[in-house]
Amino acid sequence: MKFNRLSPAAIYLIVFLLVSSCAIFSKRHSTLPPAGTFGVDQTSLITQRDTSEPMRVFKTDSANDYTLLRSKSLDVDPFADSVILKKLIRAMYLTVTDSASLGVGIAAPQVGVLKNVILVERADKQGSPFEAYLNPRIIQYSKMKQDCREGCLSVPVTRGVTKNRSYAILVEYTGFDNKPVREMVEGFTAVIFQHEIDHLNGILFFDHLK
Ligand SMILES: [Zn+2]
Repeated sequence: MKFNRLSPAAIYLIVFLLVSSCAIFSKRHSTLPPAGTFGVDQTSLITQRDTSEPMRVFKTDSANDYTLLRSKSLDVDPFADSVILKKLIRAMYLTVTDSASLGVGIAAPQVGVLKNVILVERADKQGSPFEAYLNPRIIQYSKMKQDCREGCLSVPVTRGVTKNRSYAILVEYTGFDNKPVREMVEGFTAVIFQHEIDHLNGILFFDHLK
């Protein structure tokens, strides 16, 4: 999700969070992980590149990209996929914070990977860290709605005010320890979650403008 930024992203905090979570993984998986859920094409898209660079953002003005952006994503397994997930999250972070993008959130389909992974800038937390969420789903919506001016890294030019985003949502996702986590989020952060989780279901923000 693209938004007129209010403040610079908290790069150091997110890097710390990613590195520390990865450190936990590497301790738990000192041996080779079992085969994961990522296909050969997805794995090569993530790994066969300059890993210090952002990934290409898939856009709606390309027919092939559009087809992928309209597709549904599949769940990941934080244990079986730990190595490739670490690389994907790092790549998504580089992409959403890249000067050409500067978004407040990104979903894996936007870099061409149909997996249920999103990154959200948590402006509701101190330092506004970017955090990664696996297999996120919204299990409860507030009746109260909010207006929000939205844009999208994958949608050139178009912006618009959505009026049907819930003010608060209850999100359930898979923790990096493979246990389910539930969290209530509200305000602008809730809009980012709704926007990014839409991507995992092939829904784009302008669908809400109709
Ligand atoms: Zn978007």
